[in-house]
Amino acid sequence: MSHRALVIGGSLGGLLAAHLLRAAGWQVVVFERNDEELTGRGVGLGTHPQLIAVLRRVGIAFDESMGVQVSRVICLDRGGKVIAEQPMARTMSAWSRLYRALRDPLPSQDYRLGKKLVQVEQDDKSITAIFADGSRERGDLLVGADGIRSTVREQFLPQAQPVYAGYVAWRAVLEERQMPLDVHRQVFAVYTFCLPEGEQLLAYPVPGRDNDTTIGRRGYNIVWYRPVDPRALSDMSTDASGRHHAGGIPPPLIRSDVIAHVKADAKALLAPQIAEVFARTNPFFQPIYDLESPALVFGRAALTGDAAFVARPHIGAGVTKAAIDAAVLAQCLRGAGDDLRPALARFESSQLRFGQDMVALSRQQGVYLSAQLNERGQQQAAQRDVEKVLHAHGTRSDQIGAMVAARGLDAYL
Ligand SMILES: Cc1cc2nc3c(=O)[nH]c(=O)nc-3n(C[C@H](O)[C@H](O)[C@H](O)COP(=O)(O)OP(=O)(O)OC[C@H]3O[C@@H](n4cnc5c(N)ncnc54)[C@H](O)[C@@H]3O)c2cc1C
Repeated sequence: MSHRALVIGGSLGGLLAAHLLRAAGWQVVVFERNDEELTGRGVGLGTHPQLIAVLRRVGIAFDESMGVQVSRVICLDRGGKVIAEQPMARTMSAWSRLYRALRDPLPSQDYRLGKKLVQVEQDDKSITAIFADGSRERGDLLVGADGIRSTVREQFLPQAQPVYAGYVAWRAVLEERQMPLDVHRQVFAVYTFCLPEGEQLLAYPVPGRDNDTTIGRRGYNIVWYRPVDPRALSDMSTDASGRHHAGGIPPPLIRSDVIAHVKADAKALLAPQIAEVFARTNPFFQPIYDLESPALVFGRAALTGDAAFVARPHIGAGVTKAAIDAAVLAQCLRGAGDDLRPALARFESSQLRFGQDMVALSRQQGVYLSAQLNERGQQQAAQRDVEKVLHAHGTRSDQIGAMVAARGLDAYL
């Protein structure tokens, strides 16, 4: 009889683990705490060749329906003039596009909504997930793919907490047809940077509503990194009723004065083309964190994706890392007997080092932003150069590829 895996978390990391374990001969059930299918608010998603390779392994072709292609990266100054330009071939996808591609092939009895894990129990023979509704599920393995605030990690590693990096990412998406025509003509088809003093913004085309990639129906995605000191972040994370949301404020609860403030800043600081787009959106923000787990395996439980390590989004590789974690886990477990320990030990030893590599690479690219809350001298020491930012961005896939090769992970993809 095949082994049974309980995957906690039904986002991209959990879905990737489910597909890869199924392909390795496991019976898998995913448990997601949300009551409804996840959406993703249309936000964009950078991809890397390793993610595309893993998707292919589970039968998902990364064809043109998966994203919008860009072939150039530019940097605009405050006046809207192009001050740097480089070639860059990349397919920009969307969170929800990947979610649908991974979610749709799974039978609904194997993807259960409204199941919030509260505790894990285990003995020599099995592991049990206990949910908030009082139900229990038993399996041979439990995969904690439950994100940065993982309940699984909290139980086994309460000391491993996300560390705030000193800045937030404002995110916004506008439908292509709502873009002013002249702005569309100038920026839609390219990957665009704006680098106001101490900040960083990127913007690019993505699949639109219902993941449409036909011309006129796509979306335009903005990610704007802004230093925010912890006290100001606490205020921004407090809703109009005075309730503070320490684990992240849900976008609809962000106060209107906070939104008005960021829109005014956009007008004052950004290239006019991008400020015009931003003004028409409903932006929301996500604080940026670093997270490193000192262990990934606890008996029959294993952490993957953001539950294990959070790499800052500058390398656009959170989902790629979750895919590699899942591929390595499944490959280690393929053909495992009743004693899972050797297989899980191999997974842990490989993915601990890889997770550390990814966090270090992403932190390097955010040093300048984190330094903005430091003393003036240290801020200047972290000074940045436009060409270098573009170069680091353009070579991030190669850097990830080199890390994957150095750790011998190509064999798993
Ligand atoms: C600004 C920004 C931009 C980004 N851009 C990119 C990009 O371009 N490319 C990229 O690859 N990555 C990007 N990322 C990172 C990416 O979003 C994450 O790495 C990725 O979503 C991790 O997936 P995950 O499945 O591990 O965790 P999550 O997506 O956080 O999913 C965790 C899931 O677990 C569920 N859950 C939590 N607790 C429980 C519980 N107790 N019981 C049951 N279910 C539970 C949650 O509801 C959620 O569905 C970006 C991140 C940010 C902040």
